[in-house]
Amino acid sequence: MSIADNLKKYKAELPENVQLVAISKTKPKEDLLEAYNAGQRIFGENKIQEMTDKWETLPKDINWHMVGHVQRNKVKYMAPYVGLIHAVDSLKLLKEINKEAQKNERSIKCLLQIKIAEEESKFGISAEEAKEILSSDTYKNFENVEVVGLMGMATFTEDDTQVKKEFSYLKSIFDTLKETYPKLKTLSMGMSGDYKIAVACGSNMVRIGSAIFGERNYN
Ligand SMILES: *Cc1c(COP(=O)(O)O)cnc(C)c1O
Repeated sequence: MSIADNLKKYKAELPENVQLVAISKTKPKEDLLEAYNAGQRIFGENKIQEMTDKWETLPKDINWHMVGHVQRNKVKYMAPYVGLIHAVDSLKLLKEINKEAQKNERSIKCLLQIKIAEEESKFGISAEEAKEILSSDTYKNFENVEVVGLMGMATFTEDDTQVKKEFSYLKSIFDTLKETYPKLKTLSMGMSGDYKIAVACGSNMVRIGSAIFGERNYN
C-alpha cells in the first residue's frame, strides 16, 4: 500500500476526535510530500535538526510536532515554528521553551510526558511531578508556554493487558489533572503497534510512523 492509501485507511478508521500525527522521522522529504498531497498536515519528528531542515523546504502550512526527548540548548532552533512539543519532562525545560517563545513573540504548546512504561530507558515524569509543575508559581508566570495535555509511551510488549493497563493509568491521571487544569485537552498516546488499545483507552492524539511510511532502518 502507498503512503496515501495508508493515510486513507487511518482517516477512515480513527474516531473523529482523534488527531493523527504522521511520524516522519528518518523519512525523505518526498515521502512527507506524498502524505501532504494526500491531505496530511501534522507531522512528527524526533530530532530538531532534521525537523528544521524539513520545515525550511516543505510547505509552510505543515504543523510540526516534536515528539522526541528535547535538549534545552536546542530549543531555540524550533522555537520559531514548532506547533506542539510532546515530551516535556521538567520545569527547567518549560522555562527554556518560554524564553525562546518570547524571543519569537509567540506562545508554544507543550505536553508533559508521563512515564507509564516499565522500561528504564523511557523518559517521563510521575503524575505527582506533573502536578507540582502545573501548580508552581514559576509555571503560572510563564506567558509564552502553555501545557495543553499529556503524552505517554507504553511498554514495548506483546502483552496487550500490560499495554492497556498503562494507557488506562495515563487516562486516569489525565482526567484527574483536568479537573484542576481545564486547559489540558490533549492526550497523546498510541503508536503503530498499540494505537487501537490507546484509542480504546481514551487517547485523542495518536503518533503513527512505520504503519504509514514503512519500516525505518534506524531509530
Ligand atoms: C518513532 C515514534 C513514534 C512512531 O513509532 P511507530 O512505531 O513507527 O509508529 C511515536 N512516538 C514517538 C515518541 C516516537 O519516537
